[in-house]
Amino acid sequence: MTEQEAVTFARTVLDWFADNGRKELPWQVDPTPYRVWVSEIMLQQTQVQTVIPYYQRFMDRFPSVNDLASAPQDQVLHLWTGLGYYARARNLHKAAHQITAEHNAAFPADIETLESLPGIGRSTAGAIAALSMGIRAPILDGNVKRVLTRCFAIAGWPEQAKVKSQLWDLAESLTPHKQVADYTQAMMDLGATVCTRSRPDCEHCPLSQQCLAKARNEITLYPGKKPKKTLPTKTIAMYILQDGDGNVLLEKRPPSGIWGSLYSLPEGQVDDKEAVLANQAYPLSKAKELRPIRHTFSHYHLDITPVKLTARNRYPNVAENDRWLWYPLDHSQQVGLAAPVKKLLTSLTN
Ligand code: SF4
Repeated sequence: MTEQEAVTFARTVLDWFADNGRKELPWQVDPTPYRVWVSEIMLQQTQVQTVIPYYQRFMDRFPSVNDLASAPQDQVLHLWTGLGYYARARNLHKAAHQITAEHNAAFPADIETLESLPGIGRSTAGAIAALSMGIRAPILDGNVKRVLTRCFAIAGWPEQAKVKSQLWDLAESLTPHKQVADYTQAMMDLGATVCTRSRPDCEHCPLSQQCLAKARNEITLYPGKKPKKTLPTKTIAMYILQDGDGNVLLEKRPPSGIWGSLYSLPEGQVDDKEAVLANQAYPLSKAKELRPIRHTFSHYHLDITPVKLTARNRYPNVAENDRWLWYPLDHSQQVGLAAPVKKLLTSLTN
């Protein structure tokens, strides 16, 4: 691509943005590095409309990086409950500590240092730098990948190293030297609102004259699909143990692995009912199996059989320490919950 072609591409996108881009999203008002960073992390894997209320609650509670760094992790996870991919929240918290401890609560203004922070990859670093500091840095999030693979007919799965490096080179050469914040937002908007995953609105797309996928009538081929593999299934039982007041016993998970540091229900094997809780000497009611639910992770399905039990007494030697918590079903306790656990607990009150 010649320099002139890149300039024309950016101009076309910027002209479209002037009339059609989104300019009122909560993180676009006062786009400080902190506010843009939190929004970018929340927007990974999550739609804008879902993110907005979470973002607003998060900003109300943690208006600055110092507020976030000094908050207990449970509170951060609590405000993340329902957004999923909890490693994002744990990394956000860790990075806030690092920014306050090592950078005097000021965001680093170079891509390399930004990228060294937990949870910040090259694209997020680029977005923070471009949107909040006006630094010329390319981004390559899901929306941008979709626009570029279609417009330039880049074949192959975008996560494959060779394809990814081709896309980064392209993103780099297309990023303009001026109005970099607008251009960055414009590319994200174009992917989110026009060049959508299914049924892109090519008729209103500023790139329709030059889009190779459209010209070849091959839009559905881009972006290339991930090579398929079937997911394995794991089966567990989750024990819903309630005390006389209806509170449910939860167990804090280890810091790493799935649902790290979130609270979950005690687990065991389906054919091994009561074994998990029996060794805690609870006098238990008869177990009642509820309808199984499925939770799907990126690498496996988890089939959960909920097993309901009632403890006739609380045993103080077990509950209410760092690991165990009697959780009130009105959700008044602020802790992060694993997604299927939240679903199961909600179903108990409905
Ligand atoms: S013309 Fe259609 S497929 Fe091509 S970039 Fe625009 S919306 Fe996407």
